[in-house]
Amino acid sequence: MASAAATSSTATMFGTAAAASDGCSRRVFVTTTVQVRASRSSPAFLRTSRAIKTYSSCSNSSVVNAALVTEVSAKVIDGKATAKEIREEIAAEISKMKESSGVVPGLAVILVGERKDSATYVRNKKKACESVGIKSYEVHLAEDCSEQEILQHISAFNDDPAVNGILVQLPLPSNMNEQNILNAVCIEKDVDGFSPLNIGRLAMRDREPLFVPCTPKGCIELLHRYGVPIKGKRAVVIGRSNIVGMPAALLLQREDATVTVVHSRTKNPEAITREADIVITAVGQPNMVRGSWIKPGAVVIDVGINPFEDTSCSRGYRLVGDVCYEEASKIASAITPVPGGVGPMTIAMLLSNTLSATKRAYNLE
Ligand code: NAP
Repeated sequence: MASAAATSSTATMFGTAAAASDGCSRRVFVTTTVQVRASRSSPAFLRTSRAIKTYSSCSNSSVVNAALVTEVSAKVIDGKATAKEIREEIAAEISKMKESSGVVPGLAVILVGERKDSATYVRNKKKACESVGIKSYEVHLAEDCSEQEILQHISAFNDDPAVNGILVQLPLPSNMNEQNILNAVCIEKDVDGFSPLNIGRLAMRDREPLFVPCTPKGCIELLHRYGVPIKGKRAVVIGRSNIVGMPAALLLQREDATVTVVHSRTKNPEAITREADIVITAVGQPNMVRGSWIKPGAVVIDVGINPFEDTSCSRGYRLVGDVCYEEASKIASAITPVPGGVGPMTIAMLLSNTLSATKRAYNLE
């Protein structure tokens, strides 16, 4: 595993970024090793329904403090490699579990409608399950199915001992009551961790949630595996959604960071973000967080996955994060790329939650 990302301004930092493998011509960042002097101390989900944004281009680096733009390049927090490592650990554990107890974890996914992005996510989750030895069960219902039909399937999965985790692929058709449907999943199988009981436990001291929502769990796992200290650090989470921003802030606070949440009504988000040793962004605005928002040496975890118009790509767009990578990677000490950062971690954490659910169900802890 890669060694700890240093947040100190006197640390030696290494930076690499791979060439794009998505059919887009992309700038290739060159690996650089430089010493940062102390004087400088004074970042799935392509929603096809969402218009491709050209919010802002990163190419204008004039907003970056010129003194900070040098050959320095942040360590790349490689979510793809880390997720692969986690999948291998999970596969080994499942194999041992099967051998010793005969138990095979099971994950059920309910997909409603014909959204292509949702179908892709479900396909990827099935593939990931197969790759680690989790049996997957899928129900695909028509867009015009009744809520009652969905609830019947959930109820059947709740009662099925071969199913340890249940996931309802979101978004559901707009005429459906998402809350009613999600609430029908029994807490012991809520591997998405979205139930109010899980979130409530996450927010309370000395309480343990049964599951932590996958994406924020993946963010914290990346910080841990890259040795980024959290305790006592200042953290800023940009975004307060129920599925990413809010639980990410709760997780950081549980690890003794001092946490500020920035949202759409926050005044002067740039100055607030610049105070942070750790920045987690979950906004959905391409390249919103510029280099000038980043404190030198900060660690940046970019959850955003946004389509960004690019005529050099065969499909006419590429995926970018909420953070202007080109700028931020010259100032941060470590940063996740998009794609290849938090995205792969989300599915790995789903597999991890399904394994935990199985161990709990069979008392195999
Ligand atoms: P969401 O539900 O739309 O929430 C967006 C949050 O960002 C809201 O809290 C909103 O503030 C805040 N926000 C919007 N514009 C802002 C601005 N200009 N300044 C500051 N805050 C602003 O989005 P989400 O579901 O959390 O997803 C966020 C991003 O992460 C998207 O790009 C999504 O595709 C991606 N995502 C990735 C993964 C993954 O596995 N990598 C998983 C989930 C989501 P208000 O609360 O004030 O409206």
